[in-house]
Amino acid sequence: TERMVISGGGLAGATAARTLRAEGFNGPITLLCAENRIPYLRPPLSKEFLLGKAGEDSVPVVLAGWYEENGVELLLGNAATAVDPASHQITLLSGHHLEYAKLLIATGARPRAIPLPGAELGGVMTFRTFDDSLRLQSLLQDGGRKVVMIGSGWIGMELAAAARTYGNDVTLLGLEDIPLSAAIGPELGRYFQHLHLEQGVSFRLPASAARIEGRDGTAEAVVTDSGERLPADIVIIAVGVVPDTALAEVAGLAIRNGILVDSGLRTSAPDVFAVGDVANALHPFTGEHHRSEHWSNALNGGKTAARSMLGQDATFDVVPYFYTDQFEASMEYSGFPSLASGLSPVIRGALTDESFIAFWVKDGCVVAGMSVNQRRVHKAIKALITGRVRVSMDRLTDPAVPLEEL
Ligand code: FAD
Repeated sequence: TERMVISGGGLAGATAARTLRAEGFNGPITLLCAENRIPYLRPPLSKEFLLGKAGEDSVPVVLAGWYEENGVELLLGNAATAVDPASHQITLLSGHHLEYAKLLIATGARPRAIPLPGAELGGVMTFRTFDDSLRLQSLLQDGGRKVVMIGSGWIGMELAAAARTYGNDVTLLGLEDIPLSAAIGPELGRYFQHLHLEQGVSFRLPASAARIEGRDGTAEAVVTDSGERLPADIVIIAVGVVPDTALAEVAGLAIRNGILVDSGLRTSAPDVFAVGDVANALHPFTGEHHRSEHWSNALNGGKTAARSMLGQDATFDVVPYFYTDQFEASMEYSGFPSLASGLSPVIRGALTDESFIAFWVKDGCVVAGMSVNQRRVHKAIKALITGRVRVSMDRLTDPAVPLEEL
């Protein structure tokens, strides 16, 4: 067989299918989607789609017709349940078997489950899928509900902003002293916290949920570890995701914080590749493995995976990038969080300005940069990082000096 099988119909899997065709591969391609929906983008689900500013047609990775026109067999509501790398066979949920020449595992991640009494009550949810977004929109859109958010990461903060924008009462609990500080440090975490405070979001930090209380099967309140009882109509558990390695485990692949892959996205088994949220890939720039849970990693990784499957000498070496929108702030980040971790950011402008850029500088070189409400600066930021340009602090913090001239 020359069949390419892609297990996991998210952004990474769908992008790989598109790239296989774009690179001229004419053989059979099967794309397995556990969800009963054509591959779609998740970022709008907690932002413009949830807020009713973008419709259902804005989320597909590519229009439904593309798969048929390009002869990509899309199996919806069907998942790969087992892989035997020795015989190049996979088993499907439907009971069928498929032989592959190359297999790409792009199974993504799923919400982390925490042992929380009451998590099964009505009105309690996690958030990952299109259906989650539809459901939450229907719960939030009339406003006036009490929402308790458990989790102070990106998804918790974005959903808190959306819930507040709809005029709901929002209280956010997190284990950190400052939201987002694990991701971007306390200074910038505080910046986002201020945006939320100004809009009337309440915080309990650090605090963890001890249990959810309910009546007649429906949530009524979240009780914190300090005994505070927070009334709640809607409870959202947003405490991170875990890579969905179930299939890789059955296949016996090397796993460490996701599926271990080299910089060509090859797993420990021949002809099996992995990409996206599920993959922990060796990055040539740092010489370390990075598992990224972001849109651009799925998109760019999907392209590299396809080329690697075709036997090309492809290396996944793009600088990690992600973005978020919360209230009026549009933030973009480029760089290596592992290198920036623990460093204090250097600010171009001021955190109280409408727009600014934060840089993390290590040994005289920028290792990460984050912009708020500034467009088209990330090409230059990525060039500073990959070029290991030694920067002068005076020029870096002077908004009059173009980034290209640092
Ligand atoms: P996924 O999108 O998780 O897709 C994997 C798919 O595979 C799933 O549909 C899953 O059901 C399916 N699957 C699992 N197991 C199997 C199997 N055995 N067989 C077949 N199918 C299987 N990133 C940003 O950079 N910026 C943002 O603003 C941003 N916002 C986000 C908002 C939300 C609400 C969420 C949930 C994520 C957001 N992200 C954002 C992260 C980004 O969406 C993810 O990094 C991206 O979706 C990862 O793509 P993926 O294809 O690797 O995995």
